[in-house]
Amino acid sequence: MIEMLATVRVIKLGKGDMSSAHQNISFDPDKLRAKYRRERDKRIRVDGNDQYIEVTGDFSHYIDDPYVEPGFERDAIQTQVGVLIIGGGFGGMLAAARLRDTGIDDLLIVEKGGGFGGTWYWNRYPGASCDIESLVYFPLLEETGFVPKQRYTNATETLEYCQVIAEQYKLSDIALMQTQILSTDWLEEEGLWVARTNRGDIIKATFVIHSNGPLNRPKLPGIPGIDTYTGHTFHTSRWDYDYTGGGPFGGLDKLADKRVAVIGTGATAVQCVPHLAAGAKELYVFQRTPSSIDVRNNTDIDAEWVKSQSPGWHHKRRTNFESLLAGIPVKEDLVGDGWTEAFRDIFGGLRQYRPSGWRLLLWSLGWAFSSARKERGIKQYLTDKAMVEMGLQEKMEMADFAKMEKVRARADSVVDNSETAESLKPYYRQFCKRPCFHDEYLQAFNNPNVTLVDTDGQGVEAFTERGVVANGEEYEVDCIVFATGFEVGTDYSRRAGYSITGVDGLTISEKWADGMATFHGLHSRGFPNAFFFGPQQSGFTATYTFALDENAMQTAYILGELKKRGATRVDASEKAESAWINTIKRVARQTEEFQKSCTPGYYNNEGHVEFESQNTFYGGGPIEFFNLMAKWREAGDLRGLEID
Ligand code: NDP
Repeated sequence: MIEMLATVRVIKLGKGDMSSAHQNISFDPDKLRAKYRRERDKRIRVDGNDQYIEVTGDFSHYIDDPYVEPGFERDAIQTQVGVLIIGGGFGGMLAAARLRDTGIDDLLIVEKGGGFGGTWYWNRYPGASCDIESLVYFPLLEETGFVPKQRYTNATETLEYCQVIAEQYKLSDIALMQTQILSTDWLEEEGLWVARTNRGDIIKATFVIHSNGPLNRPKLPGIPGIDTYTGHTFHTSRWDYDYTGGGPFGGLDKLADKRVAVIGTGATAVQCVPHLAAGAKELYVFQRTPSSIDVRNNTDIDAEWVKSQSPGWHHKRRTNFESLLAGIPVKEDLVGDGWTEAFRDIFGGLRQYRPSGWRLLLWSLGWAFSSARKERGIKQYLTDKAMVEMGLQEKMEMADFAKMEKVRARADSVVDNSETAESLKPYYRQFCKRPCFHDEYLQAFNNPNVTLVDTDGQGVEAFTERGVVANGEEYEVDCIVFATGFEVGTDYSRRAGYSITGVDGLTISEKWADGMATFHGLHSRGFPNAFFFGPQQSGFTATYTFALDENAMQTAYILGELKKRGATRVDASEKAESAWINTIKRVARQTEEFQKSCTPGYYNNEGHVEFESQNTFYGGGPIEFFNLMAKWREAGDLRGLEID
């Protein structure tokens, strides 16, 4: 057993003032590994994704659009376009923008919501914001010249920015809002897709881009009694401000006499809980797995600094950020926030303590022991030496332990009640679940009206007519807010909300029944002229808009090439598709052990990590994937695609 000692900086954000202190954190890696395993094991469920129920039938009101006036009607249309883009979120907008830049203008965007924005259109819950730096998260910043006000933007500004993009690229002229696609079918003889909508439209298109969002379909826990509860309920992605009062910045004044339950403690709950705590008479937060809550420390952005940057700064910043997260050593950490901290420490450490030259020689002679003791103290010396002797994977694990120890220490320093603080500590590696950054969430548990109901990994057991049952106890509430996330890993058509039928009547659900099959995540053989945006078999980035932009640029390049060559049909070759699936499986093994060690969640298919599964991201990380795509484009031969 080696006891690792790491000097870390602990930020205390307690009780109104902000102070910082250096603190030695010591931990036993073996004990932590065992604790992580126990925490994972008690959460693994055989039903995996089947624990959730689909929001259809009696539950379909959970996905009604609360942001439009009811009763909108229009005449059905029949039309034919060059490119049909399904989805008006960042993916769809980026596709349209990049296509317009390539000189392809015969476009139609179909969006089920009442405006652009996708996830930001739907998720307007109080406190909704982005905790990835806005200078990284917002796409097209150099193209639009837009400067976000704060380092971590909010949902309101993000929606405003969507309007900026829509205006710059004249997207409103080519959009059909409040329109839901029901089916897309390939017409072989015509070489066209035909899409049908819930408004009776018939839209023919040479190409279709499916950008329907990876977290688009809210999910509900399939818990006994969910349909017997008689109080008020809604999902966070359709916030009911008529019931709660207030708006995206809080002020939930209609809850002053209400007892409210929140189910879930993921990234969404973390942002809305402080506002519910401030508004509700009583708030019960039902926790299955705590999130990692690190310091956010939002600040204003200096517009002059942004304007003084050299062309290309935006791509450089995004690449730097995602490189650090992917474990690629970089010279500097341009963003320097809680996301990159663990990696910064690792690579800073590696540069400093590379086992080469005089240091290695002195260590091996044993001479350095005494000089190192003088220089930095024996503990630090042993830490450094141990680090050098470990492989990179282990170093990353040690840095991860240190980082998470710091996150856990923050719970102790912020939350008054020590039992509650202990319950709020996450015991898993930083990227097992979506890390969260917030400066009011942990603090909310110091309010006397807030109760954390820790279910020790088991979740809520049942609903009754009056409330929620957990740990065998019934909690009577007036309202239940489902912060239970979105479907990931279920059937593609179910999530998209429409069917896709390709050559010879084969549906995408049939084709992917035993696993996704694509070339570069974008094309699927037998579905010619269809482009699938999203992370599966493609690059998965924490900055989701970055990956979407890569999807958009790749699609625009391909369609531009087809136009130049006078081709109107493109499909993946059988050989290329099967080679790509093999690549995905092979590279997935690099992350398999990590995924298996994690607590369940949508990042690891609810804990069901299958060794041979291709239903995953490109395991070499997004930057490696983007580089592969850039090289593929540079080659200029559209290798792997059959064009006609
Ligand atoms: P998540 O899927 O991350 O969280 C769902 C929560 O519900 C989890 O805490 C889960 O627990 C809990 N849950 C599910 N079933 C039960 C049950 N039976 N009893 C108790 N708890 C239950 O959804 P979110 O909406 O929070 O976040 C989705 C994603 O949206 C994030 O991962 C992130 O990518 C994105 N997001 C990004 C933000 C940003 O700042 N950019 C902000 C908000 C969201 P368990 O963990 O045990 O499964």
